[in-house]
Amino acid sequence: MTDIADYPAPMIEAMELALGRLDVREGHAVIAKLAEPGLSGARRENLQRQLLTTVKLVMGNPRALGILGVEPQALPVALSGIWPFAQADQLRCAIEDTLGTAGKFRTTLNLQAPDGRAIHATFVAWTEADGRDAISFGLLDITEQICVQDSLLRLQAEMAHSDRLSTLGVMTATIAHEVRQPLAAMMTSAEAGLRWLHKTPPELRQVEDCLETIVLGATKANETVAKLRAMASNRGQAREVCDVKVLIEETAGFLRQELASRHATLSLDIAADLPTVIADGVQVRQVLTNLMVNAAQAMADAQCWSRALKVRARGDETFVIIEVEDSGPGIASADRERLFDGFFTTKATGLGLGLRICRAIIVDHGGTLDHLSKASAGSIFRFTLPIQDIVDGTHQET
Ligand code: ADP
Repeated sequence: MTDIADYPAPMIEAMELALGRLDVREGHAVIAKLAEPGLSGARRENLQRQLLTTVKLVMGNPRALGILGVEPQALPVALSGIWPFAQADQLRCAIEDTLGTAGKFRTTLNLQAPDGRAIHATFVAWTEADGRDAISFGLLDITEQICVQDSLLRLQAEMAHSDRLSTLGVMTATIAHEVRQPLAAMMTSAEAGLRWLHKTPPELRQVEDCLETIVLGATKANETVAKLRAMASNRGQAREVCDVKVLIEETAGFLRQELASRHATLSLDIAADLPTVIADGVQVRQVLTNLMVNAAQAMADAQCWSRALKVRARGDETFVIIEVEDSGPGIASADRERLFDGFFTTKATGLGLGLRICRAIIVDHGGTLDHLSKASAGSIFRFTLPIQDIVDGTHQET
């Protein structure tokens, strides 16, 4: 078989193959001109348009013509009405590569159907027996896959955004509380300072004390706000050497008010010799926040009598292992498999995205995040982060 017209029609139809041929005889001269050095933008554009008018679709099976939106009686037809101008350069490559040493060419075409619909198709071209006059091609309609991919990407972006917002909701409440205290202290000191100043003679030593208290309060408020900004920032911070103990203690500090409001008692058990990790500290704090808030919420929602939240961290040869344990209601075995699916939530206002995003963050760091069964009531979430030596590749087997 030397020509696509020779392929058995039933086989082609059954496989839903879209096949066609392009007459490229007049295209060679235009391609040669396109190769001339120092071509101006306008002349180049003209030649590209010429290429699309001179190359013709001469044959196509019903499926190919359907994808390209061409009626059979219209053949032969110039590619100018079919091939997108923005991809004119790909047509040049298709001809050059197919007739050159490569012998084949592949690209994705973004076509427009007669009804205006966007069609994405994989275009594969190859040579048949009759030399440089024509090239044959196959088309694979991938519009559906591209649409699914696009909506997945959109969904992922939305998920990351909404999770950040829900985490921020908690953080903002906590920080509002943290900032209120220094602000109140600053106000009291300022009022006292004014009183000392209005005395005759003014008590300057006391005024100085008050001003120092104000400076301290402002510094503390500033630090708190800076932490919020780091958390809210959409830019992932660069990965750096992190001390997990510091990350846990910082998160615990942030959440002090949130945990207290749910009557959860936090205890930390962090190994003294914890190895350092390479991580995005903001993201790891986000994971810890999510796990700790989930635990406190679960214990409060179930009105547990004892509300013990424990965060443990220890290291082994390859990982730092962090566990967040609560004494809440635990998770029904039927729900355990869906925990990390996304959109699984038992909360009236929950999004069900937190755990999914936490897992994505940890996996991205080279670790794992899982829920462990607990003999007594409650849940344990365990995540791991590879230790710095492993990431650096300096770890030595002992
Ligand atoms: P959301 O908090 O928006 O529901 P998550 O992905 O963070 O989303 O959590 C999904 C679900 O997992 C929660 O709705 C809850 O049912 C369950 N869950 C998570 N952590 C715990 C926990 N510590 N104890 C009990 N259930 C939990």
